[in-house]
Amino acid sequence: TEILNRVKEEHDILDVSFETWLAPLKVYKVEDNIVTILVPSQQVGLDYVSKKYKLPLKVAIAEITGTNYEIELLLPEEIERRQKTEEDIITSSNAGLNPKYTFDTFVVGSNNKFAHAASLAVAESPGEIYNPLFIYGGVGLGKTHLMHSIAHFILHNNPKSRILYATSEEFTNELIEAIRNGNNTAMSKFREKYRNIDVLLIDDVQFIIGKESTQEEFFHTFNTLHGAKKQIILSSDRPPKDMDILEDRIRSRFEWGLLADIQSPDYETRMAILRKKEELDGYNVGEDVIDYIATNIKSNIRELEGSLNKIIAYANLEKREINLALAEQVLKDMISPNEKKVITPEFIINTVAEHFNLSPSDIIGSKRSSKIAHPRQIVMYLCREFTGTNLVQIGQLLGKRDHTTIMYGIDKIEAEINNPSNTVTEEEIDILKKKINPPK
Ligand code: ADP
Ligand code: MG
Repeated sequence: TEILNRVKEEHDILDVSFETWLAPLKVYKVEDNIVTILVPSQQVGLDYVSKKYKLPLKVAIAEITGTNYEIELLLPEEIERRQKTEEDIITSSNAGLNPKYTFDTFVVGSNNKFAHAASLAVAESPGEIYNPLFIYGGVGLGKTHLMHSIAHFILHNNPKSRILYATSEEFTNELIEAIRNGNNTAMSKFREKYRNIDVLLIDDVQFIIGKESTQEEFFHTFNTLHGAKKQIILSSDRPPKDMDILEDRIRSRFEWGLLADIQSPDYETRMAILRKKEELDGYNVGEDVIDYIATNIKSNIRELEGSLNKIIAYANLEKREINLALAEQVLKDMISPNEKKVITPEFIINTVAEHFNLSPSDIIGSKRSSKIAHPRQIVMYLCREFTGTNLVQIGQLLGKRDHTTIMYGIDKIEAEINNPSNTVTEEEIDILKKKINPPK
């Protein structure tokens, strides 16, 4: 106010002009010798104030503060835009990204070689080659880790790039919130956030596609970014072709770029991941313990890491040495019987016999009544499904039968399963499969 009054007095400004042009001005910030002033007006107003009052303001400020500040005049939109950019840069450098998920800590194995190479290529030249990059694979196999690695890599090369990482829950919730607010500002804020960026990463995109409204908005977000050659990276638990409720126009866009899958890790990769983790966390766990974990925990890397953490935590708590005995004790609940149990032909014979109220010797024996022959053929079929035994071996186990008999038996069961007017065999097989290998 003091500054404004001084300008008014010194330049003998009329009240009406003062009220229109000077009174509304507000200092937005003072930084690095620059005073940024908000001009709550339109472009013409800004031009006019700049022309006519910028110098008087500068002089008045210098007189009053004793510092020769530069003056910057800005419209509200511009200030808002700058704030947002600052926020975004802050968001992308901390929030949302796990500092541990980088390419350096990612172990490359045969299961993820391709996804890793694709991710690195995209990180090196975002928006240029593979757009979108679509990473898919089961739970806990490293999709999120790879996505964060890409984001870190791009930010490292170009700290100014505007990167937005969001889970699809975040995208959906923010969208629903914007819709519920029911006004245009909320919606345009949402769009600004998701479209005014250089790289968009949406994790677990399968959840976005559940709802029509989110699919629609996502479609437009996608098109805007893709059209502007901005990099899009998506992850999902399954490939686009298996996303049933996905609209075709979106599905085809998902397939425009590169699809990269991650499989379950093999034993060597599981060992390498455990060793890497051991190294990163600074522990020294014996090779036999690592081997024990890698042999028994197969499905998922999160569980693999969890097992190692659990063993280390136990050792610390109970002040015990980390050894195989401790590992076995700690992991006994995690190692499910399925993973330990090997399905043997004997086990199948026993299960089938019991199911049909027969004894195992009936199955192995020579009686040919259909009451026994049918279960025996089912055993042949299931042995081939569940065990590595070949037809000759199955024949040996089933009372020295010839392998052609086994083949005939298996074919017969297959024909019955595929015969639409006979549902009995199919049901029997279903039940028996569940008995032999219970779903988790
Ligand atoms: P997803 O997103 O596919 O469910 P995550 O990326 O969250 O899986 O991975 C689960 C855990 O396994 C994370 O702690 C991650 O760091 C780790 N992980 C997955 N793959 C690897 C790998 N190849 N090398 C090292 N750690 C990995
Ligand atoms: Mg994930």
